Amino acid sequence: MTHDEILNWLRESNEARLADLWRTADQARQAHVGGEVHLRGLIEISNHCIRLCGYCGLRAPNRKVTRYRMTREEVAACVRQAVALGYGTVVLQSGEDPGLARDWVADLVRWIKSETPLAVTLSLGERDKAELAAWREAGADRYLLRFETSNQRLYARIHPARPGGPANRLELLEHLAVLGYEVGSGVMIGIPGQTYDDLARDIALFAELDLDMIGCGPYLVHPDTPLGSPDNWPVLPGDEQVPANERMAYKVIALARLVCPRANIPSTTALATLNRERGRELGLVRGANVVMPNLTPPAYRQLYEIYPGKACIHETAEACQDCLQGRIESLGRKIGSGRGDSPNYRPR
Ligand code: SAH
Repeated sequence: MTHDEILNWLRESNEARLADLWRTADQARQAHVGGEVHLRGLIEISNHCIRLCGYCGLRAPNRKVTRYRMTREEVAACVRQAVALGYGTVVLQSGEDPGLARDWVADLVRWIKSETPLAVTLSLGERDKAELAAWREAGADRYLLRFETSNQRLYARIHPARPGGPANRLELLEHLAVLGYEVGSGVMIGIPGQTYDDLARDIALFAELDLDMIGCGPYLVHPDTPLGSPDNWPVLPGDEQVPANERMAYKVIALARLVCPRANIPSTTALATLNRERGRELGLVRGANVVMPNLTPPAYRQLYEIYPGKACIHETAEACQDCLQGRIESLGRKIGSGRGDSPNYRPR
């Protein structure tokens, strides 16, 4: 797909033509990754964060957040639950938390890999190359790190660099691939200041990076952040600003499927937050093939507030499982068996 083709789809408003996009993406999903919907159990292991991201409620200066870091036993209990519920993968996610020490994470990954058949995905932010190497060595299979936007000026504004930290996320993504991780990335849709041109370039970059996993969701305003104050972050005039709405999120999922037909693409919680009734399902019939049910203990889940109003925040893992199973079967699809690796997966 050319830049202009992507751009035209992003600007398309004709429902009949959009129905063609949804259909084409759904067919590509069926042809390349099949009808199974893979479940990845999300465990939000810490909400401590040293970063200053302008969009995220976990940013270091936000004093309103009660901070937590799960113990190894608490994480292990969630992992056992993932096994009991038949999931193929656990995703360990956190703020960028140096308190999650290299060896602590490595030991945890080693324990999961020796005691369970699960694939392990890490999403712990921008960590040092030595840490990423140690975790891969310990058996971690995949790493998620969204580049958030390919517009470097916008990125620098919303995501101040860490002094002395790794240079940029694109370089880290390449390094993750060299280490043998399956690599996932993605963007937020409708960041104040994000143009259609920016978003079209983001989608082209998914293909250039040859991503194994692509996670994209609408940007959602958190009031206790710099981006949450409209005075600080005026949106662009009229037809330049990408809206952070549901239809735009479906367009990005569908286009991601068309440019990376074999990728694993989740129907995200941020999308379900915009449309609680049908958001997940519509994502799944417009290109997505993955859902990430939340396994974090409810008391911590409420504290992992990257944006407010998260869907399904009070559901127990079991209730979540029943609900998802019903939703997936109502689409004539099945819950995936096994780990749901990328077709490019390379065993260590
Ligand atoms: N610290 C890790 C994990 C962050 S949470 C990291 O930085 O990679 C995972 C994703 O949530 C982020 O990459 C971002 O794209 C998304 N996110 C954060 N704040 C958000 C908001 N206000 N609205 C929508 N998505 C948000």
